[in-house]
Amino acid sequence: MARNVLISGAGVAGLAAAFWLDRAGFDVTLVERSDGFRRGGQAVDIRGVALQVMQAMGLLDAARSLRTRLKGMSMLDADGNEIHRTEERTYSAGRLDSDDIEIFRDDLCELLMKALSARVEIMYDNSIRAIAQHEDSVGVTFERGSDRSFDILIGADGIYSGVRKQLFNDEAACVFPLGVVLALFSTPNFIALDDWQIGYRVEELGYVIYPSRDKRELRIGVGFGAPEPALSRNDVDGQKRAVSQSCAHLKGDFPQFLDAMASTDQFYYNELAQIHLPSWSQGRVVLLGDAAYCASPFSGQGTSLALVGAFVLAHDLAQHPQNHADAFAAYENRMRPYVDLNQALVDPERQGPVPDDQLDAAKNGIDLADLLA
Ligand SMILES: Cc1cc2nc3c(=O)[nH]c(=O)nc-3n(C[C@H](O)[C@H](O)[C@H](O)COP(=O)(O)OP(=O)(O)OC[C@H]3O[C@@H](n4cnc5c(N)ncnc54)[C@H](O)[C@@H]3O)c2cc1C
Repeated sequence: MARNVLISGAGVAGLAAAFWLDRAGFDVTLVERSDGFRRGGQAVDIRGVALQVMQAMGLLDAARSLRTRLKGMSMLDADGNEIHRTEERTYSAGRLDSDDIEIFRDDLCELLMKALSARVEIMYDNSIRAIAQHEDSVGVTFERGSDRSFDILIGADGIYSGVRKQLFNDEAACVFPLGVVLALFSTPNFIALDDWQIGYRVEELGYVIYPSRDKRELRIGVGFGAPEPALSRNDVDGQKRAVSQSCAHLKGDFPQFLDAMASTDQFYYNELAQIHLPSWSQGRVVLLGDAAYCASPFSGQGTSLALVGAFVLAHDLAQHPQNHADAFAAYENRMRPYVDLNQALVDPERQGPVPDDQLDAAKNGIDLADLLA
């Protein structure tokens, strides 16, 4: 009998898990908080072993065709003057001569979404209000609609996972703030930036800017020291004010970007943190992706960890369809060393890129040959 699985969160991890579980014969339902597919966000990276997973999904060529095609980058000073340029790497993608794929997060999510079969049920504009674990099922109360019962619940709902909060009820013990905020927003491409990235980094403030694939928008990421006390996650006006204050001294084109930020609804603000948990599951509930083991955008590896984790978890559930405890243990045993290597990439004090050999070891730090055979 097919087992039914609920996945909370239709981000990279949730969509990839839905793909694999559906293919393995599970009945899959996704519940997503936002009211539809969300565009925006910067580029993310698919690296190392995660490329093998994309290949196994049949999506590698499509992902390559959607990759950003930046030719290099310039570092600017606070007045907007170029102080350094390179065609060897960009701030966001790393070395340009590698096989890794830099792709906009929304393009990747759309690709994953389109790869889902019609059997996968997606509930938008809804989320889980309460979870009740029973011997043979997990009962879920949604914000909207009737209660339902599932065999397995997967929390793939990102760094501030609601499933994790309900499951472990001790956020202070597992969320390790990095003291840095990352704000991402889109503006029209006022400066006709084409195939090039511009960046700035002095002490705690840094930004990176590059055009969307169609060159009509700029995708802007600004990082700065986290305000104390932390701003409410719903206080978007306050978050935009904090970005403007941190960047008030930046000249050149930057004031124009801040003006455009004020009116955009494509704005994402996140206090960077890592998630470290002694266990990723409890009973019939298991965590996946940033919810379980966020490494933070500083690692550049969150998307690869989500893709690989989804593949491993779905494989282990298919191997142990009647024994979720064995499946969760196998998933965790295989993934932990890989997660540890990737979380260790992060050093907020480092001014330059992660050393190439350390990144190579981390992005290839798991062997999936037996699962992919
Ligand atoms: C809008 C957005 C933009 C991002 N932009 C970038 C970026 O530019 N650069 C970067 O490095 N990383 C970015 N990230 C994070 C990056 O996508 C993840 O680190 C990585 O891909 C791991 O994916 P994930 O699926 O575990 O988590 P996420 O990609 O965060 O996905 C989690 C999903 O769960 C949904 N969700 C959250 N809470 C609930 C809830 N209570 N109920 C139901 N659904 C819920 C979210 O809406 C989201 O769709 C972004 C995340 C989001 C949500």
